[in-house]
Amino acid sequence: MGKGTLVARLLEHDDRLWLSRSWTTRARRPGESPDAYTFVDRPAFEARAAEGGFLEWDEHLGHLYGTPIPHAPPDKDVVLEIDVNGAMQIRQQFPDALVLLVEPPSRHELQARLSKRGDTPESVEARLQRADMEVGKGREVADHVIVNDDLDRAVAEAAGILEEHRNPPGGTP
Ligand code: 5GP
Repeated sequence: MGKGTLVARLLEHDDRLWLSRSWTTRARRPGESPDAYTFVDRPAFEARAAEGGFLEWDEHLGHLYGTPIPHAPPDKDVVLEIDVNGAMQIRQQFPDALVLLVEPPSRHELQARLSKRGDTPESVEARLQRADMEVGKGREVADHVIVNDDLDRAVAEAAGILEEHRNPPGGTP
């Protein structure tokens, strides 16, 4: 289970959270929910980017991914499940954003997860290389690193970090 599963579990436990649905030009994977993304073609994505419709966007292994300007109810906290380049753009615009880096327990484990998901061997290899690069950059931008070794433990850790961010021990953050 990757960071998508962790985020889904976090949302089940915390109704103040509101998950942003990203746009992507990647094709839907077999068995993937049609709601996982707003799936669009490149011209549609580029048109939206040109009119300033994304908070951030990034090219990831040949596909575009972007966060549409969110319209969350005012009492909600917006959750973005994005890559490290996206997180860096968000950090610049929102210095107070809480950035959590979710790391797989090992490269071997990540490889197993990606292969099980039905990615081609070439895509698995490209994603592994990308992940190596992201770990270094991610640790620079993240407030906390969560190792996704055990899902329940990782969810509890993320929930604890969120709670402390909302109610810091000595007052406002
Ligand atoms: P996947 O193709 O596996 O669904 O996603 C590939 C990568 O793109 C993942 O690291 C995912 O978190 C990231 N991603 C998904 N949506 C967005 C987005 O809106 N913006 C950015 N920058 N990355 C995203």
